Amino acid sequence: MKLSIPRFWRRRFDYYSIKITECLDCGRKSYPRRSICVYCKSRNVRTVTSAGVGEVVAYTLSYYRIEGEEENTPKIVALIRLDEGPIIIGEVVDVDKSEVREGLRVEGVLRKLKSEDPGGLIYYGFKFRPLIRDR
Ligand SMILES: [Zn+2]
Repeated sequence: MKLSIPRFWRRRFDYYSIKITECLDCGRKSYPRRSICVYCKSRNVRTVTSAGVGEVVAYTLSYYRIEGEEENTPKIVALIRLDEGPIIIGEVVDVDKSEVREGLRVEGVLRKLKSEDPGGLIYYGFKFRPLIRDR
């Protein structure tokens, strides 16, 4: 992923929040954001911002490394069911891999993903950590 700085700036709110689609006809929610409901095909949808809290549905350990990313292997990659309903994929951080389990409550946090050359963009994105305090 290499974006120009202006393009990144225009899309910053998409990167710094979790946007989901809510269907105003059937009421179901889906991720990622779309202009059409994936369940009933209605175009009567709106975008809502997720609170970023949910629970681990399933997880695995990934030893795959992408050049330029922070060193952190193995990564805990999980399917996370947001409290709003949709399931998303995310990395779970700030926890020992032996402590991850299905049902673990997690919250999204912005973390540095990678950086370009000195003076270039620093990419941030969502990762998930164990929920410190349920809201
Ligand atoms: Zn629908």
